[in-house]
Amino acid sequence: MFQFPRLEFDPSADALREEVRGFLADELQSDGFTPAADCWVSAADPEFSRKMGARGWLGMTWPSEFGGHDRPVAHRFVVTEEMLAAGAPVAAHWIADRQTGSHILRYGTQEQKQTILPRIAAGECFTAIGMSEPQAGSDLAAIKTSARRTDNGWVLSGRKIWSTGAHFSHYMIVLARTSPAEGRNRQVGLSQFLVDLSLPGIDISGIRDLGGTPHFNETLFDNVELPEDALLGTEGNGWAQCMGELALERSGPERFLTSLVVLEKALPLIAAYADARRAVEVGSILANLRVLRRMSLGVAEMLERGESPATAACVVKEMGNRLENDIVQRLRGMLAGIPRHAWPDGFDGLLREAILHLPSNTLRGGTTEILRGIIAREMGMR
Ligand SMILES: Cc1cc2nc3c(=O)[nH]c(=O)nc-3n(C[C@H](O)[C@H](O)[C@H](O)COP(=O)(O)OP(=O)(O)OC[C@H]3O[C@@H](n4cnc5c(N)ncnc54)[C@H](O)[C@@H]3O)c2cc1C
Repeated sequence: MFQFPRLEFDPSADALREEVRGFLADELQSDGFTPAADCWVSAADPEFSRKMGARGWLGMTWPSEFGGHDRPVAHRFVVTEEMLAAGAPVAAHWIADRQTGSHILRYGTQEQKQTILPRIAAGECFTAIGMSEPQAGSDLAAIKTSARRTDNGWVLSGRKIWSTGAHFSHYMIVLARTSPAEGRNRQVGLSQFLVDLSLPGIDISGIRDLGGTPHFNETLFDNVELPEDALLGTEGNGWAQCMGELALERSGPERFLTSLVVLEKALPLIAAYADARRAVEVGSILANLRVLRRMSLGVAEMLERGESPATAACVVKEMGNRLENDIVQRLRGMLAGIPRHAWPDGFDGLLREAILHLPSNTLRGGTTEILRGIIAREMGMR
C-alpha cells in the first residue's frame, strides 16, 4: 500500500558524515554543548546554529540562488542524523531548516525567498509554527484566528498556542481564516501568513513543559497590521498548504531518534552487563531503527522528487513515536540490576529528561490517534 523508495548514501555522504562527526567531537571537547535528549525541540543555541550555517549545513538542499547549497537530500539526512545522535543544540534553527524554508521555497514570492531563505541558511533567522489554538489542535479546521483585508494589507487577530521557539523566532507561519467556512466544509477560507514577530500588537508568553523548560509559547495577535505581501501562497489555499507542510514536519529522523542519544550513552554500560535478555532488547531496538530509517529516507526521496507523501509521513511518525518511547521504557528495564555508581557521568539527568519528554512525542506534529485515522482513511478503512 505504501511505497518507500530506496535512497542510498554515496561516498560523498559518507565523507560528509565523517566531517560532521569531527565537528561534533571538537565541539564536545571544547564544551561547546552538553548532549540533550529531545535536543531538536528543547536545546536552542543560536551560536551553534550560526556555526552550522557557516559550514553550509542549513538549507542544504535549497538552490544557491537563495543561499542554499544545491545538495542532495541524503546529505541533509546525514547532518540531521548526526546532530540528533549527538544530542546537539539544534532547536533554534530546526523548524526553519526542516519546514519553513522549504515551504517558502515552494509557495513564497521571489521577494520572500530572497529576503528570508539566505538568513535561514546562515543560521540567523528562526521561525515558528502557528497552527494550534486553545480550542483547535487535532481539529485544526476549527481555528478562530482571522485575517481581514484592508486597503494596505491585512489585520490579524487571534491566539496561537504551543508554538515551539516562538520566543526567539523572527517569523511565524500563521494559519488564519480569511473567509467563512462553506457550510460543513471548514477547510475552505483558510490562508497562511508569514508574520514578522517584531510587529506591534504581538505578545508572546512562554509555557513550561513537564521538565520545566519554557520552550513553547502562547502568542496573542491583537489587531496586528500585516503588509499585503505577508500572505504566503494563495489566499484560501491554507489548508492544502498546511498539509504539505506537515509532510515535511512528520517524516524526518527526529520522529524516531529523539531518544538515540540516551541509548548511545547507555550501550557501553549495557555491554558491560550483557546477558541474553539485554541482547534481545538491544537487537530488537536496532532492527526497528533500521526499518524506520529506510522509511524516513524513502519519504525524503519522495519530497525531493516533488511528491507530497503526506500519509507515508504519518506512517513514519506513528511508528517512529512508538519506537522512541519504547526505547526509553526498554532502557529502564535493561538498566534494572545495574548499580547506579556504574552509570556514566550525566547519564541519570539525560534519562530523566528523556522520560519527561515522552508524553510530548505522540502529541506534537499530530497525535497518534489522528495519524492512525489518516492512515486508515488512505487504506479505505473509514
Ligand atoms: C512539545 C509540543 C510542541 C508543539 N509545538 C507546536 C508548534 O510549534 N506549533 C503548533 O501549532 N502546535 C504545536 N503543538 C501542538 C500540537 O500540534 C497539538 O498538541 C496536537 O495537535 C494535539 O492537539 P491538542 O493538544 O489540542 O489535543 P486535542 O486535539 O484536544 O486532543 C486530545 C486527545 O484527544 C485525541 N483526539 C482528538 N481528536 C480525536 C479524534 N478525532 N479521534 C481520536 N482521538 C482524538 C487526541 O489524539 C489526544 O489524545 C505542540 C505540542 C507539543 C506537545
